[in-house]
Amino acid sequence: MKSHVIALAGGVGGARLSYGLAQCLSADDLTVIVNTADDFEHLGLTICPDLDTVMYTLASLNDPVQGWGVRGDTRHLMQALTRLDGEDWFVLGDQDVATHLLRTEQLKGHTLSQVTTALCGKLGIRIAVVPMSDQSVRTQVETEQGRLAFQDYFVRRRCEPVLKGVTFEGIEVARPSDGFLGALQNPKLAAIVVCPSNPMLSIEPILSLPGVRERLRARSVPLIAVSPFIGGQAVKGPAAKMFRELGLPVTSSGLVDYYQGLLDAVVIDRADEPPTGVKVLATDTLMRDSADQARLAREVLQFAQTL
Ligand code: GDP
Ligand code: CA
Repeated sequence: MKSHVIALAGGVGGARLSYGLAQCLSADDLTVIVNTADDFEHLGLTICPDLDTVMYTLASLNDPVQGWGVRGDTRHLMQALTRLDGEDWFVLGDQDVATHLLRTEQLKGHTLSQVTTALCGKLGIRIAVVPMSDQSVRTQVETEQGRLAFQDYFVRRRCEPVLKGVTFEGIEVARPSDGFLGALQNPKLAAIVVCPSNPMLSIEPILSLPGVRERLRARSVPLIAVSPFIGGQAVKGPAAKMFRELGLPVTSSGLVDYYQGLLDAVVIDRADEPPTGVKVLATDTLMRDSADQARLAREVLQFAQTL
């Protein structure tokens, strides 16, 4: 029986639904493909924010309030950096730095996929967490204040500059990771779920990798997106602001149009008007806790079976 599910994920929204999916599926039936276009080099470290959020969430180490980093982490390193007048605009918790140190060291002799598998193994994560690519892809944000590197826009400037467009440096020469390609070719593949992640920043890079859109268009399984919008707003982060600044409606129809005919179905909140042209499941899409995550994931999987 076909039972394998691929989830396409960014950080918080992706991690929340992935955690739920992991509660519903056996470990070898779930592959989470994670955006790496937010990754950057900082203070000599390779930092992969979305991979970290997904890993920490799946390992139940995540900080649910802050949305990133390790729960209960301390900031001694940051205090020392500030004292030394070092770059302190990107907050690094003390435990979190251990991840970045090991990753940076291991990347000297291994791919990001290998390093991620090793880190997940140590954290007791049994499902496959796969970077979208092993090559470097870096989001650049075109704004009214010029072209900004992603973390400069997102963290340092808190997404305040008005958006004009997004590009992914290196995408033309990157290729989907072997784990990503393998999951797409898995004969047991039953469905592909686009998590309620930021469409432009988290999902677009995954779809823009050479060959991915073509492979998805040729798929024989349903492709379902869970909307990150509820009542005309994003639950968290700049997705709604970005949509508005590019003149796109912050609605489930806007989301479906954004994915340009790729979706078979969409899961929207009961608060929202259903879009036309795709199958729709309307439910409670806010994931306040792990019970919500598991409930929404179960509903998404049951819905997928009807498609
Ligand atoms: P980031 O990389 O940490 O910014 O995270 P993602 O791109 O994965 O997710 C950001 C998106 O997740 C935002 O647009 C939010 O609206 C969405 N999101 C976060 N939590 C929830 C939730 O509980 N339900 C839904 N439907 N969307 C959520
Ligand atoms: Ca992210």
